[in-house]
Amino acid sequence: MRLSRFFLPLLKENPAEAQIVSHRLMLRTGMIRQEAAGIYAWLPLGFKVLKKIEKIVEEEMARAGSIQLLMPTLQLADLWRESGRYEDYGQEMLRIKDRHEREMLYGPTNEEMITEIFRGTVRSYKDLPLNLFHIQWKFRDEQRPRFGVMRGREFLMKDAYSFDVDEAAARKSYNRMFTAYLNIFSRLGLKAVPMRADTGPIGGDLSHEFIILADTGESAVFCHEDLINMPAPGNDVDWDNLEHIFEGRTALYAATEEMHDDARFKAEVPEDKQVSARGIEVGHIFYFGEKYSKPMKAVVNGPDGEITVHMGSYGVGVSRLLGAIIEASHDEAGIIWPESVAPFDVAIINLRQGDEACDAACEKAYKALQSAGRDVLYHDTDERAGAKFAAMDLIGVPWQLIIGPKGLADGQVELKNRATGERLTVPFEDGLAQLS
Ligand code: ATP
Ligand code: MG
Ligand code: MG
Ligand code: MG
Repeated sequence: MRLSRFFLPLLKENPAEAQIVSHRLMLRTGMIRQEAAGIYAWLPLGFKVLKKIEKIVEEEMARAGSIQLLMPTLQLADLWRESGRYEDYGQEMLRIKDRHEREMLYGPTNEEMITEIFRGTVRSYKDLPLNLFHIQWKFRDEQRPRFGVMRGREFLMKDAYSFDVDEAAARKSYNRMFTAYLNIFSRLGLKAVPMRADTGPIGGDLSHEFIILADTGESAVFCHEDLINMPAPGNDVDWDNLEHIFEGRTALYAATEEMHDDARFKAEVPEDKQVSARGIEVGHIFYFGEKYSKPMKAVVNGPDGEITVHMGSYGVGVSRLLGAIIEASHDEAGIIWPESVAPFDVAIINLRQGDEACDAACEKAYKALQSAGRDVLYHDTDERAGAKFAAMDLIGVPWQLIIGPKGLADGQVELKNRATGERLTVPFEDGLAQLS
């Protein structure tokens, strides 16, 4: 992408309405634009990152055996009356009527709908276990939408739903999602800690929130320090035997405010390992058994008669993750994207646009890196060098390839790593090879 042909409406000033750094940076870099309270348009830079996060989530869900589908955003109120949640859900639910006065709602989550799909299509216990997921916009009429995409009203969620014959099988499904989540957040460059959590309006008895520690987090959290740096399990695991991974992560104390037991915390965690901090909830998994399958009659034929299926649901806040990643990874100059989700892999900075040699070298690098499969942003405007550096630091592209007349005279270019700030002068071809 040539910057001169891209749509990157950077803001010069810090927007006054943004209270936290991720919101500020997302507005300044032209990633999002607020259209109404808690409702954002995703501009090209933000949309690119959103798509990259989605892709990682999709890949890891597939590895864990979950199958992708897509459910609509609008749902019938009657479906929610079957579970009893239409009345219970309260003011966060956006209720709508169509032209026939039929009551509908903009989905805040999809347990009822997936249960309806399941009961209408699956007949035999032999078709279980089944795990289905989608990535779809949700609407919750939050009382205090704030912090940009962190607490939006319209937001993108990945939600998965598992169906099993009994509790033991359902726990295996739970462990699969638990493991997949550790891998997802690790690929996003995040240190997410699973914490015992309240099940809230979704109900049930087994639940973990995945929490990123950050001062701007909205919940108070408590955990053993060793949990924070535990490496992710990776994909080389036996997906049918994950109990040890679950045990390994849950043996040490970790709880959100609602579940916190201070006496236990103090007794179980040595004083120098006690972390009490703020956290951002980026994912939440539940096992809730027959909570929906029973009232909604989601049953399969078993060897000895009818079985009411055991269900779980598993959410990831895909759009919230952009904010969480920026909260975890930025400096005074701007965003520092992990390479896995950066909007571009490399930025080419032409220090003297219009200079024949510089332009030719930049064009050559642009083509070569693109052919090597890199996502390249070529800063090809005639702004001065300082402004180009500042802009590329601000949007956080992991690598900058800096090409100027002085270096080129000796066949040299500069490579800058955004995260470390390290700059390296190398021969032109070596620079290309390193970035390819
Ligand atoms: P919160 O406690 O932040 O209100 P929640 O517990 O209500 O979140 P869940 O029902 O568990 O949310 O939904 C799954 C995931 O969706 C959450 O873990 C979070 O990452 C994301 N999410 C929930 N509400 C929002 C929102 N208003 N804006 C952006 N992401 C959200
Ligand atoms: Mg909520
Ligand atoms: Mg919550
Ligand atoms: Mg939650």
